[in-house]
Amino acid sequence: MIAALAGGVGGARLSRGLAALLGDHLSVIVNTGDDFEHLGLPISPDLDTVTYTLAGRANPETGWGVAGDTWNFMAQLRDLGGPDWFLLGDRDLATHLLRREWLSRGDSLTQVTHRLAQRYGIASRILPMSDDIVRTRVQTKEGLLDFQDYFVRRRCDVVISDLQFDGASSARVPVAVAGAIAEAKAIVFCPSNPYVSIDPILAVGDMHAHLMAARAPRVAVSPIIGGAAVKGPAAKMMRELGHASSSLTVAEKYRGLLHGLVIDNADAPLAPAIEACGMAVLITDTLMRNAEDSERLAATVLRFAESLPIDG
Ligand code: GDP
Ligand code: CA
Repeated sequence: MIAALAGGVGGARLSRGLAALLGDHLSVIVNTGDDFEHLGLPISPDLDTVTYTLAGRANPETGWGVAGDTWNFMAQLRDLGGPDWFLLGDRDLATHLLRREWLSRGDSLTQVTHRLAQRYGIASRILPMSDDIVRTRVQTKEGLLDFQDYFVRRRCDVVISDLQFDGASSARVPVAVAGAIAEAKAIVFCPSNPYVSIDPILAVGDMHAHLMAARAPRVAVSPIIGGAAVKGPAAKMMRELGHASSSLTVAEKYRGLLHGLVIDNADAPLAPAIEACGMAVLITDTLMRNAEDSERLAATVLRFAESLPIDG
């Protein structure tokens, strides 16, 4: 068994490669700090991006939603004066409606996510980081914003000074997640945003302790290539939080937690400084343009993890 930690786009791109190699020997533990309720529906953006991607149904242009979706619901909603800042495609709606139905009858998010993944034909296990509610909030000079308010409505166009994960410390690590971590032969941190995808996972209850107790190498792929994020606000957040936008910042952030970090060829000169953070470095092409790239990088990451001695 291999366990991966993932947010949305970067998480899904590496998970797609891991899933192709490992099938039902993979558990992907996914951030739910971005989740929110909209029009009465429970929306889980990162769970859905991972699910649609592993199902081969993701929209490659947007990084969210279902490929080939249509927008009749949104058009009608707009006609009726409903909120149109958050887009829900016609096909995508079915996922949210079933999630609503199943949660309402008492199923856990873990059960709901598993059932959806099965119906989408996915062999790997997709696991929410918690069944309890955790909400990422962003401290800005205009006050505290809900994550989707910051990310979608404001398009990250406001300077941040801090992040918080409301509910995380009292949220419980699901049994399935604890089991996946304990059984893992390697734990892979996908190239997800460290601040708003990986940090919320690490903040859940005793998640950090579970990860540290695992007798398995912990390796990450940096989401930063040549000082820039491939997509999204990771580099901008680093700068606003007072760091260089660099894979070295990723290494410093994960110091003590990782045995190894995979960085891009473009960042090869950073290797000695990253090694000085107490982790091994592997340098390769980390840009995943398609499924073949994802699979090649996943295989490289797994070989790297296997090569690392773990203490204890
Ligand atoms: P989000 O929830 O959609 O923001 O998804 P993640 O946090 O999982 O992914 C966002 C991060 O993925 C960004 O910081 C990107 O730089 C990174 N990312 C996206 N595609 C790639 C890729 O092909 N290679 C690498 N190394 N990072 C990527
Ligand atoms: Ca996300």
